[in-house]
Order: sequence, then C-alpha cells, then structure tokens
Amino acid sequence: MPDGLPTGTAILKPRRARPFFGRHPWVLDSAIDRVEGELADGDVVDLITHDGKFVARGLWNSQSRLRVRLYAFDAAVPLDDGLWRSRLAAAVALRTSLGFDDPAGGCRLVNSEGDDLSGLIVDRYGDYLAVQVTALAMARRVDAIADTLESLVAPRGILLRGAERGLSKLEGLHLPDRVLRGAEPAGPVFVMEHGLRFGVDLAEGQKTGFYLDQRDNRQAAAAYARGRRVLDMFSYSGGFALACAVAGRAASVLAVDTSAKATALIEANAALNGVAIVTAETADAFEKLDALAAAGERFGMVVLDPPKFARSRASLDDALRAYHRINRVACDLLEPGGILVTCSCSGSVSREDFLQMLAGVSQRAGRTLQLLEVRGAAADHPVSTSCLEGEYLKCVIARVV
Ligand code: SAH
Repeated sequence: MPDGLPTGTAILKPRRARPFFGRHPWVLDSAIDRVEGELADGDVVDLITHDGKFVARGLWNSQSRLRVRLYAFDAAVPLDDGLWRSRLAAAVALRTSLGFDDPAGGCRLVNSEGDDLSGLIVDRYGDYLAVQVTALAMARRVDAIADTLESLVAPRGILLRGAERGLSKLEGLHLPDRVLRGAEPAGPVFVMEHGLRFGVDLAEGQKTGFYLDQRDNRQAAAAYARGRRVLDMFSYSGGFALACAVAGRAASVLAVDTSAKATALIEANAALNGVAIVTAETADAFEKLDALAAAGERFGMVVLDPPKFARSRASLDDALRAYHRINRVACDLLEPGGILVTCSCSGSVSREDFLQMLAGVSQRAGRTLQLLEVRGAAADHPVSTSCLEGEYLKCVIARVV
C-alpha cells in the first residue's frame, strides 16, 4: 500500500455519519459498526457510511475509545509525510502572521485539532520546542514530525514531553520523555511575556513547562490590579502574580500553590524580574482560602486558576461544586468592588455552565457579580469550529460589589 493510503475501512452504523460530514475529527468506537481489511494501530483507515459512501480518512487506534482520528475529508488526500509537513508549515505560518515570532518569546506552535493535527501539541520556548503527543498515531509519526519542525523552525533542541496523566492509559501510549533533536537545555529556558521574564523548566515543569494559554489573560487581569492587595491562587510559576505586581502595580501579591516546586519557581521568577512585593506560599488552596476567610483577611483582587476539576462529563457535578466552593470563598475575601479573576480549564465545563456556577455563587454570597470580561485562550491556541471541545479555557473577570 502506498504511504498514506488506507489498509482498511471502518463502516459507520446507520445515522452516525453526520458529525463527520461536519468534519468532527473524533470517531468513537460506539459509532463504528465493523471494520474491513487489515488495520494495525496507527494505520490509515477510510471512514465510510453504512451504505458505502466515503466520509473521511483517519488513523486507527484499537486501544482507544476514540477509535479513529480524522485528518482528511477528501478521498484524494493521502495521510503521508507531505500532509503532515504542509499542516505543520501552515501552523507555524499562522503564528508568524499573528506576530508570535519574537525569538525570545514563547508560543503554542501547534494546537492539536485547532491546527488539523489532532493529538499533537508543540510549544516554542525561545530556541527550544516541547512536543506533547496525545494520540498513538501521532506518537508513531513523531520522528517525521521532529524532522519537519527542525527544518521549519531550526530550534536548538526538540523535547518530547510525556502524555498528560491519564491519557497514556486512554490511548495505550507509553512515551517516556526524550530529546528528539538537538540538545536539552542545561537549565531553565527564559522566555519573555508582555515585558516579564519567566524561567521555564522544560524537563520537569508542568505540561510542557508553562501555561502559554493564559498569556493575555494575565495581562488583562493586571490592568485591574493597581494599588490592590492581590491573592493569586494556583499560581504555578507566578504568571498572574508577576503580571499584577509589575504591569498592574499591585500593592502586594500573595501567590499560593500546593507544589513546593511551583513556589520555588514563583520565587525565582520574582527575583529574575526584581520584584519584591510577591510572597509565595506552599499550601492547599481549599485550606488556605478557608484559613484566610476565617482570619478575616480582605483582598482587592483574587485570581483562581485551578487545575482541571472535571476530567469528563461524568465528573461535571463534582467539578461545578468545587468551582462553586473556591469562588464562594474568593467572594467572601474580596472587599466591596474587588476584582475576581476566575478560570476553568476543564473542557467539559462549558462557558454557560461556568457562568451559571458564578450566578449561584453570587446568590449564595449575597454579592452582585458584574462581568467585565469573559475570555478564552490566547490566539496562538486556535479552536476549530468542527471540534469545539478544543475551547477548554474560560477566564472571567468580574467586579464583586
Ligand atoms: N496560574 C498558573 C497556572 C496554574 S495551573 C499560571 O498562570 O501559570 C494549576 C496549578 O494549581 C498547578 O501549579 C498546581 O500545582 C496547582 N494546584 C493543584 N491543586 C492544588 C491545590 N489543591 N491547592 C493549591 N494549588 C493546587
């Protein structure tokens, strides 16, 4: 079989083709009636309707509930190296056209479905690339992808960061971190973000090392921080804390994270930028919020940027309860007219769910919440309208009266 052409077909159950004619790239096992031909994991497969019409071309993974990921909706397009190359080139060209080409900066170069490359994430930190693979089919092609990235971006090194927790099990992926091309940086890589310098730990840091998706939300939050006492909960490497302290000219910032590694990063980043008004504390956010409220502390701004609370639709109610709880205490901590910056990176919590949760918080807390900004991820994280699941990040800025 020539490279990129199918070795088998997956036949859909009747009435299950509609999302895929709408170019949704995820075919669940439950939509598939049967397969014909020889399909090994990672192979190219054609998706056809129960009455034999071509729908799309994708890659097969028998170990995942997400049985086929679709990459082309035209039978004339093979899923070969040329296709991956042109998709990667288009993704890189988009970032350049958006102005994310500062060699000292960081940006997301490839955003999975948002760049028609389901299962592939590539972040650039200065001269280094961090690749995160969340699909077995992409893992199989990671060397060709690294070659293309090398020729497109000429980085000093390309590092493969292991799949996100849980995903390895879902996809049958066993991917240890490794250097794909070039060399590993000797220490942290430094990137500029809106005039601030951050050290990014590519080898040990969370995700690919830094939360690039919050870049513009940190700047937006900072615009409200002037003269305020700021609490930055779930601070990681201090992105919101430093933006509020420097650009925002906050009076003081308390940055809290449960990870001691994270609070060490906050301190290092504060020192790197000559910031003395940020205090970092290692603590559990739920306990710390309660303790601050019990002590009668008040803040002019509270930032909440927790990790994903909902891993699936099934855990939605628990997640909404957890969001409610921290946002409720945050309201209690805010002085009248204080600013709440509240985020959710759970894809299964919709913008509507999140705003309804805030309405419940307002009612319970007896405080009016005025929405000032409802934001998403920065523009280097494009979302495809055919896969709205990619729109995971919510960042609401509200005034709490
Ligand atoms: N605001 C950060 C990103 C936060 S990511 C930024 O702008 O870069 C979520 C963070 O929450 C992680 O650093 C994680 O260590 C921390 N975290 C997870 N559970 C926590 C808990 N119970 N209490 C405090 N921090 C927690």
